[in-house]
Amino acid sequence: ICLRHRRDRTRLLQVLIDAQDRVGWLPPPLLTAIAAQLDLPRARVEGVAGFYSFLHTRPMGRYRVLFSDNITDRMLGAPALMEALCGKLWVEPGKLSEDGLVSVATTSCTGMCDQGPALLVNGRPLTRLDHARVNQIAELIRRKRPLDAWPAELFHVNDNIRRRDALLGPSQQPGEALAAAIARGREGWLEQMRLSNLRGRGGAGFTTAVKWMACRDAAGADKVVVCNADEGEPGTFKDRVLLASFADPVFEGMTLAAWAVGARQGLLYLRGEYRYLLDGLRETLARRRTAGLLGQGILGEAGFDFDIDIHLGAGAYVCGEETALLESLEGRRGTPRIRPPFPVTHGYLGRPTVVNNVETLAKTTLIALHGGAAFAATGTAQSTGTKLLSISGDCAYPGIYEYPFGVSVERVLEDCGASDVQAVQVGGASGVTLAGYEFHRRIAFEDVPTAGAFMVFDSSRDMFAVARNFVHFFAHESCGFCTPCRVGTSLLEGYMDKLAAGHGAKMDLADIEWIDRLLKNASHCGLGSSAPNPVLDTLLKFRPAYERRLKNLDFEPAFDLDAALAPARQATGRDDPGAHLDTAQETSR
Ligand code: SF4
Repeated sequence: ICLRHRRDRTRLLQVLIDAQDRVGWLPPPLLTAIAAQLDLPRARVEGVAGFYSFLHTRPMGRYRVLFSDNITDRMLGAPALMEALCGKLWVEPGKLSEDGLVSVATTSCTGMCDQGPALLVNGRPLTRLDHARVNQIAELIRRKRPLDAWPAELFHVNDNIRRRDALLGPSQQPGEALAAAIARGREGWLEQMRLSNLRGRGGAGFTTAVKWMACRDAAGADKVVVCNADEGEPGTFKDRVLLASFADPVFEGMTLAAWAVGARQGLLYLRGEYRYLLDGLRETLARRRTAGLLGQGILGEAGFDFDIDIHLGAGAYVCGEETALLESLEGRRGTPRIRPPFPVTHGYLGRPTVVNNVETLAKTTLIALHGGAAFAATGTAQSTGTKLLSISGDCAYPGIYEYPFGVSVERVLEDCGASDVQAVQVGGASGVTLAGYEFHRRIAFEDVPTAGAFMVFDSSRDMFAVARNFVHFFAHESCGFCTPCRVGTSLLEGYMDKLAAGHGAKMDLADIEWIDRLLKNASHCGLGSSAPNPVLDTLLKFRPAYERRLKNLDFEPAFDLDAALAPARQATGRDDPGAHLDTAQETSR
């Protein structure tokens, strides 16, 4: 495996993924051998293996089942289905079965919210779960059927495109946009990009032309274009659909970026949850090479040499942050870098690098085909063009909707068949929670910005439970690099669990708000600073959902001494819960 990866240390993550595929997990001697082959310290290899959720340093069984734990999967009954599967397979959640055959656990959102509940089995998605499907899965596992022999329809994933506009509507021929951009020349093409005022669709909304020009002007000839396909924001799945059915415009967008900045190397970072798309993407790349749309002298243009490689992620939400993604591409743990310097000057392996989202790159093909001014004629002044929304939750028609920027939330709700709506979570867990009185607001960078998630909650939903799910998500996904986020997210998790257990007091709400402020102001990257968003929003707009959980007390300790002592009491045979309270009373007497 190491030889196939040319003993290239930057490919450490890919080596570990391949080694795990072969062996089933990553036993210590295997990590030692990989370290020796790549001439890396063993601690570095173990550090990477321990960082990514989809890499296992202990056996997880021949079948590794991971239920998607997003709030929308939960609303569709995922916890009960998981319990049923565990019961049928005689396995405890999070543990390996006694016969070593199967493990069942949860994972962060798998990007199938429009067709949940969903799970991954050995990395392959199964959607639209119900009890019949769970029975079928249990039977296939009990009979030890190889995954390739499972009924193909179990693995079918729908695109669920409900509304098409400029990008999803008229089809384009591969190479058409590229030819148009080459005909304009590099400068002419960049000018069209500038006129379009295209802003990044990954969430931050940075102007794409400015990013490209900074990379073009950076010192160094070996520039790189990176496509960020690590779509991990809970509730977002539009990049999944683009990669599944619109891969040509995505790769063409990468090539258009390469033409603008003068890059020769392209890398697409594919989130581990979308690994099932890998073969199709590789086929598309092969077709494009054959058609002269990648490789040497693209479309006959002397000196325009560019090719694309695909790297797999392995279950780490933080790698969606562009510098963490670059670390991961270089074979390290996905820890966000300190900025500046920015990737446009010091990116992949220290080279000038453009990092763009899947949708952003696909959109550039429209600008090449129709011109920047035509693109900017749609949408609003500060948010040009269209936006793909991933709609899920309490609505009749979940799926992908493409709208010109500026569409109102109420219009979207009407189109997706939502009624009796209490709240909409726009932008995923790190986004904004909108209450009914805000539904007149518009999807646009200047009003309600979003990377694409649009989760609908009707009046039957408990908004505290929604926020708690997001808090658990952030605590799980914090990379642990900086203390405010590492400690803050787990403290927040503890407080939300305390409230959920009915032990909350008024003081806890004040503490929660204090931790939220700390996270917002002191975290190193966007994960930590946006982690408190759902709690802050729901506390402000849905405070009764918190208050009805409070006891009529001013203070109750967050630490449950009895619960903490229970395992020790059980081990020693002492059945004396509350003994410490009695002692305290005796002493005071
Ligand atoms: Fe890591 Fe969280 Fe700090 Fe970001 S804010 S660097 S995710 S610990």
